[in-house]
Amino acid sequence: MSQSPVEPIAARAEALFRDLRFGSVREWKERTGGLAIGYMPIWIPTELLHAQGVLPVGIMGGGDELEIIRGDAFYQSYICHIPRSTIELGLTGALDCLDGMLFPAICDVIRNLSGMWKMRFPEKLVRYLDVPQDFDDEIGGAFWRFELEELSRELTARGAHPYDAEALRRSIRIWNDSRALVRDLYALRQREPWKVPTHELYLVLRAGLVLPVEEFIDMLRAYLEAVRADDRRQPLDQARVLLTGSFCEQPPLGLIKTLEKSGCYIVDDDFVQVHRWFVRDIPTEGDPMDCLVRAFLHDSIESPTRYIGDRIKGRELVDRVRASAAEGVLFCAPSFCDPALLDQPMAVAAMDEAGIPWTAFKYAENNGQFQVIREQAGTFSDSIKLWSGEVVA
Ligand code: SF4
Repeated sequence: MSQSPVEPIAARAEALFRDLRFGSVREWKERTGGLAIGYMPIWIPTELLHAQGVLPVGIMGGGDELEIIRGDAFYQSYICHIPRSTIELGLTGALDCLDGMLFPAICDVIRNLSGMWKMRFPEKLVRYLDVPQDFDDEIGGAFWRFELEELSRELTARGAHPYDAEALRRSIRIWNDSRALVRDLYALRQREPWKVPTHELYLVLRAGLVLPVEEFIDMLRAYLEAVRADDRRQPLDQARVLLTGSFCEQPPLGLIKTLEKSGCYIVDDDFVQVHRWFVRDIPTEGDPMDCLVRAFLHDSIESPTRYIGDRIKGRELVDRVRASAAEGVLFCAPSFCDPALLDQPMAVAAMDEAGIPWTAFKYAENNGQFQVIREQAGTFSDSIKLWSGEVVA
């Protein structure tokens, strides 16, 4: 049987995912001489970095293949795993290809990590990126613009191109293209989840954290084309589920595969949100920095890490369940993740009110045993198929 056209693309994405020395970033630096700046999960203004010739590199911890030797000494046992593996990567030199690290305002753990990074790597650019909690253009917008301009100046001081409005406009267009393709990928998986297994989609998204955005766009196009052309994947009688809570520390790849094998089609998720942070294209008319600022204020997704003003927690999740035609929800959060677990009771109440079946479990990025979760997810999937419409808690 000939090789599926999807396989080489998935294999390349997986090789990038498993490379904890970030060889592609090292190669890019050697080739271009540019700055590579790492950032912790969820979101940073990638367009601004790109416009100044900087490669943004998303760091999502060390996964399940990194042995933690020194990282545990930095955090208590009741803290999630991702800061330990990230500091382990830093202390072992895996991240020495980065010229700096950005720590967006995600939670106290990330704030503390930014302080540790400053002390441990004083020669690197280290910046905690505070985000606005007020969505008025004149207040939160002015604050956010000031933050971005200061970041821009710091990048220039480290050797990046100076800020240029036209370059930012071009970069916004390129990242809009990238996000549009990711939306296409999610839409295709929603329609035909058997064609786009989530573990494969996830690997492609992860590749987009280390590749230059232009190469990521090429990969997305090639993957979409290959998946559409490959008719060997046929539908199975599986439950359609939405997976939520995995926006920062990521589940091990084996756990995602286990969920799929247990009888679930994952039709929406929270993985690698930097590629889907904005719900629509960022406009490019007018001042591009203002466009970037307003997009953050008014067009960002509802992440648990982001203040949402007067809106009601859980409602957006109900809307996503409806939009994706999911039959149930998997609350799949990292152990000790405050943003995910503090939002969960409100989200669960919204599911109960809407009559949406759900189940919940926790993981760490370095878990190796999935049997219990497999049984739980398999039972959940079966119960949806047998008693669809009943609440299964
Ligand atoms: S996994 Fe949760 S608690 Fe840990 S750093 Fe990320 S958002 Fe913070």
